[in-house]
Amino acid sequence: MLGMLETLQFDNGFVRSLPADAETGPRRRQIRDACYSRVEPTPVARPELVAHAAEVAQLLGLTPADCASDGFVEVFSGNRLLPGMDPFATCYGGHQFGNWAGQLGDGRAINLGEVVNAGARWTLQLKGAGPTPYSRTADGLAVLRSSVREFLCSEAMFHLGVPTTRALSLVLTGEQVVRDMLYDGNPAPEPGAVVCRVAPSFTRFGHFEILAARGEDQLLRQFADYTLRSDFPHLVRGGEPIGRDHYIALFAEVCRTTAEMVTHWMRVGFVHGVMNTDNMSVLGLTIDYGPYGWLEDFSFDWTPNTTDASGRRYRYGNQPGIAQWNLLQLAQALLPLIEDPKPLEELLSRYAADYQSRWQAMMANKLGLGSVAHDDGELFERLMSVLQLAETDMTIFFRELAGVDPQVAADKLLECVSDAYYQPEALPPEHREAMQGWLADYAGRLRHNGITPEQRQQRMQETNPRYVLRNYLAQLAIDAAEGGDYSLVHELLEVLRNPYTEQAGKERFAAKRPDWARTRVGCSMLSCSS
Ligand code: AMP
Ligand code: MG
Repeated sequence: MLGMLETLQFDNGFVRSLPADAETGPRRRQIRDACYSRVEPTPVARPELVAHAAEVAQLLGLTPADCASDGFVEVFSGNRLLPGMDPFATCYGGHQFGNWAGQLGDGRAINLGEVVNAGARWTLQLKGAGPTPYSRTADGLAVLRSSVREFLCSEAMFHLGVPTTRALSLVLTGEQVVRDMLYDGNPAPEPGAVVCRVAPSFTRFGHFEILAARGEDQLLRQFADYTLRSDFPHLVRGGEPIGRDHYIALFAEVCRTTAEMVTHWMRVGFVHGVMNTDNMSVLGLTIDYGPYGWLEDFSFDWTPNTTDASGRRYRYGNQPGIAQWNLLQLAQALLPLIEDPKPLEELLSRYAADYQSRWQAMMANKLGLGSVAHDDGELFERLMSVLQLAETDMTIFFRELAGVDPQVAADKLLECVSDAYYQPEALPPEHREAMQGWLADYAGRLRHNGITPEQRQQRMQETNPRYVLRNYLAQLAIDAAEGGDYSLVHELLEVLRNPYTEQAGKERFAAKRPDWARTRVGCSMLSCSS
């Protein structure tokens, strides 16, 4: 019945190399001297496949026939285990909204095992497959609403070229899950769902933090050594003994890949929404798609997460700085292994400089410049503030900008980008003036560009997506899926496979947020409830 799925090759390095909690099963508890607990997914009533990502299946060596089999939905709902699977939940801690939160862990994620295929290693992880020792007071489950968001966004981000965990499948469980969506005392049943996530590893900053916070220095070293050999093999040559320099190199690489990831977020207008240290991957992958959002109206102050509305800690413009704060927490966790804070401090300041130069290079690509000239920084910064003076759709603005002809008269330049405005007829005069000035300077800069107009347009169209997972589009797909119609989930998955290419007949997926979505829950306001 499980057919070819049984040919998946498992090699479970995490459980083989690291100490397990002595107890198995989901009884909630604090775990000591262990990195994980064995716990099985809870079987579900009537699993039904909503969608799957064929490219992710292929990474694992699964064929389209495998994905269409009954076995597929049984396995990826958590109802059946394949030979070689050894399910476990891992222990981690984290700083939530700036405060140490103690033990968190995989509260509703269960790792099935590590698949080895075509020279790569992939951990399969079910999200929403039932309680684990780390579920605290919660149920270990997930609803269709948040699972559609996780599934579609993981894949959309991948196709945008943003480092991310992947999503293999989205399955309805056939059971209801009660959620108080806005945390306002109105709990209601929603359809339950399970997503199978896939990544080289799901190791988070918080895995290191919990061991350091507990003073489990021996285990911290063992975990760091395991992580180096498994996730950073290029940093350890052969079987050489691991020491201080390797831990420093590990931290340097996390700083680098984190800067790279955040630069991509800023490029595409993605706001994670919950950049707690337990939601930061040591591989610099975007992880844990919760109350994230996409910038429509360009604003550094925007946060999609209602839980974050008062402090706006995780707002768009704060993401690079928060990533550095999170790296500082990781550095503190690694300190017992390195003993000297100096190299870590140096790397943290290097992160800031590195991010700044990555951001500038990224902006040069967004604007279609051949390279960063010495006074381009001012041009970039000024655009950021001018854009915030009127309600401007970020995605449309940068696509429109590719059409700007530097030979056009200065007073006609504004028309080139007018489609990006939410209220083009009511532009604040200070914006109109500032944007006209900026566009004139940009046109001037283009006349001294080192590349041809064709090269410029190509660069811009490869950097500025036409299609992103607009908040209201995800919500429309959720509404339809809750009514049993999965076609919009499939169509979005398909359109978002080629986010930089104009797709005939798909213009509506590139449209500005409609007015009804301005205040609708799920479109502009999201909570952590999922
Ligand atoms: P988050 O910041 O939303 O990624 O989650 C913080 C912690 O809460 C993690 O340890 C999650 O595993 C856990 N968690 C979130 N939702 C649930 C749930 N419904 N059941 C069990 N644990 C959960
Ligand atoms: Mg999380």
